[in-house]
Amino acid sequence: MRQIKSPAVLQKEIRQLIRKGKTIGFVPTMGALHEGHLSLIRKARRENDIVVLSIFVNPSQFDPKKEDFSAYPRDKKTDILLAKEENVDIIFLPTTDMMYPTPFLTSVEVAELTRNLCGRSRPTHFRGVTTIVVKLINLVLPDIMYLGQKDAQQAFVLKRMVKDLNFATKIKICPTVRAKDGLALSSRNQYLTSDQRRQAPAIYEALKKARQAVKSGVTSSQKIRKLIEQHISQHTDSKIDYIECVETETLNPVKHLKGNILIALAVKFNTARLIDNILVQAK
Ligand code: AMP
Repeated sequence: MRQIKSPAVLQKEIRQLIRKGKTIGFVPTMGALHEGHLSLIRKARRENDIVVLSIFVNPSQFDPKKEDFSAYPRDKKTDILLAKEENVDIIFLPTTDMMYPTPFLTSVEVAELTRNLCGRSRPTHFRGVTTIVVKLINLVLPDIMYLGQKDAQQAFVLKRMVKDLNFATKIKICPTVRAKDGLALSSRNQYLTSDQRRQAPAIYEALKKARQAVKSGVTSSQKIRKLIEQHISQHTDSKIDYIECVETETLNPVKHLKGNILIALAVKFNTARLIDNILVQAK
């Protein structure tokens, strides 16, 4: 496995691989790898000649006032070992200075899709995500980029960006990997105290209840949101950031569920902000 820090070196090696006719699968991450990340790497491994994994805790997607960039979990040694075990070909580990040389004056923004859900409480977050991912796509030139359904809004926003800007990269959205008790795996789960970790499966339980309700014919978004809220507040000490039922095309909230609907939520256990979602088909 090649470990590359320099964007210029990565770019050069990628060009050589493409000249040789290799296909490239790319998994962008912020590290502290878990089974969710590994599921993306494994899929990329099955479907491409070359697998590139990036690990970069991107400062521009953290809110400088509300979120602690420096506290985000980092475990480079273990990440490198895991990447080797999964037969990653290139692990890209740039420093912040390499990705954001000063002055850095350019950003990429996707309108509308970034307005609701996480965009409401994290207004600068998606601009940080889209800007870094454009840079990464330009360096890696992947045939396919693998993203997780866990971060549904991020995946939809990036899909739109790739389409709008005519990137040749195809995006594949892979299922959310969960712990046995249903909690969606996340690097941020490390922030939870043992008590909070015991409570956290209630998030997915609530989403499953909602799915059941939709299946049995409930179409009122308000009812569904109430049901989720009640379950979470009965079983956890978390603070609900949002619970929304949105159209999958526009990510706009709906009053009545019809067709493909994303039910998404964010809750906060002190500083740990956890997100989860399910896709449902309403009649
Ligand atoms: P992160 O390192 O949290 O920025 O995530 C990097 C990529 O892994 C993103 O595409 C995430 O959606 C994806 N990912 C994170 N957690 C999971 C999970 N539990 N299941 C599937 N994909 C995940």
